[in-house]
Amino acid sequence: MTPNLALQASVAPPALAVLVSRNRHALVAGLTFLERAAQRTLDVAALDAWFQRHLVGTGWMAWPGQVSERVVGGMALDPGSATPELAARCEAIVQEARALVVITLRGFIAVESDDRFLSAAIFRDRVQPDARGMMAGWVPRPRVEDPLSEIVLSLFAADILGNRETYDRALGVCRICGRVAFDPTGLERPRCSAHG
Ligand SMILES: [Zn+2]
Repeated sequence: MTPNLALQASVAPPALAVLVSRNRHALVAGLTFLERAAQRTLDVAALDAWFQRHLVGTGWMAWPGQVSERVVGGMALDPGSATPELAARCEAIVQEARALVVITLRGFIAVESDDRFLSAAIFRDRVQPDARGMMAGWVPRPRVEDPLSEIVLSLFAADILGNRETYDRALGVCRICGRVAFDPTGLERPRCSAHG
């Protein structure tokens, strides 16, 4: 398998299609961000498109107009003004966000699970119980001023809170490359296809 095929295999379209069919849209949005960030294909235009499709289109947040990370700083989310400097800053923000999310998810699936990000998301109103429909669920409610990592974590928090009993073995984080994989069957902890 070529490295490129290995990258694409981590979140195979069939797995995402299963999640979409089960209305796991917040999880799909989070996994899509992590995979595109790992592939280094989230430039300013792609990040803007990700926001439009997964966060604005779902009604979970207004278009933010800017993105930021605490240690990197912020920038306008404006594909039209992308200079090489802004492209580099965007990549730095995306990679910092990915690193922070992966650390948090690693802690969550550790034997002594650290799930403080769930209570923090509830306490800070970044997730809310979903009153619509018969099924009890949670929706992400990120704010436009939140760091990108917290926006992505609100997606995972909403999905985990609504589906906690199925998370036991469904989520995997590669020890080598940090690739996050998800198997909705949860039969065996999923592994990165390059380092499994
Ligand atoms: Zn790996």
